[in-house]
Amino acid sequence: MCRFCEEYGDGGKWYLNPANYARRLYKIRKEGDEALGADADPQAAGMGGAVINDIIRARAAGKRDEEEQIKKDALDAAYQRHFAQVVTLEETKQIFDIAYPIARMTCVCRRASVALPDEQNFTCIGIGPGMYKWERWPETYRGGVEFMTPAEAKRWADAADEAGLVHTVDVFGLPYIGGMCQCEYPGCVAIRNRVDYDFKFILKGEYVAELDPEKCIGCKKCIPRCHFRAAYFKVYAEKAGIDMMRCFGCGLCASVCPTNAITLVERSSFPALADNW
Ligand code: SF4
Ligand code: SF4
Ligand code: SF4
Repeated sequence: MCRFCEEYGDGGKWYLNPANYARRLYKIRKEGDEALGADADPQAAGMGGAVINDIIRARAAGKRDEEEQIKKDALDAAYQRHFAQVVTLEETKQIFDIAYPIARMTCVCRRASVALPDEQNFTCIGIGPGMYKWERWPETYRGGVEFMTPAEAKRWADAADEAGLVHTVDVFGLPYIGGMCQCEYPGCVAIRNRVDYDFKFILKGEYVAELDPEKCIGCKKCIPRCHFRAAYFKVYAEKAGIDMMRCFGCGLCASVCPTNAITLVERSSFPALADNW
């Protein structure tokens, strides 16, 4: 399990611990942000957007040490305030049984990356007491929110999974979990920055995909489902392959496989992957 499970999981996965959705944490989080002089607006938190230009400039200049230092400084702050981790569809539904309230809201990444107007862009899930604030003051979070029952949220997650979107949990002041995103490359700033610049604002999930070549019929359905360039096709063998070092454990490949050739396995069961977040 990851370091956040060890610290905040109470013996299990940290995002399945109800304590990390507690209303009192929302208040503590705000006080922490104010003490840091930080902007508490999650739209301004930026998913790495604030430093990515500096990372690109350092890389273009061949200054790899500088690039690594920029990432380290930014991530030290992000892992306290705002970051994301990949979860499976099943875990997403478990979270919808824990978190309250649940609401749809505007996806800030897609607004910025593909300029979707807010009314067509309710593709992000907000959870917890912050939703009451944004319901009452929609100008705080442009577009406001639409509340959902847990059953509606689960159907929403099923539709997102079918469409090929990755599920993530989002922290807003560690360990408070205040959002569930449904994302894709390159529209999602967090996924794009991770895949293109290895900026670890978004962490790998607790699982990795394992493929049984005996069961694979080479239909290739799994390959376009992968946003992390981990699933590929072995031309010589006419079967799919999975680079487990690159796999984020989202499960999107497994859910379309017609022969159940792909299973999700606990990351910790592979020593070489156990610390590969
Ligand atoms: S992380 Fe995903 S759902 Fe959340 S704002 Fe970005 S693209 Fe939208
Ligand atoms: S290989 Fe499968 S489980 Fe791993 S990141 Fe790609 S789609 Fe997700
Ligand atoms: S979806 Fe399943 S059967 Fe088809 S290529 Fe991928 S692993 Fe093989």
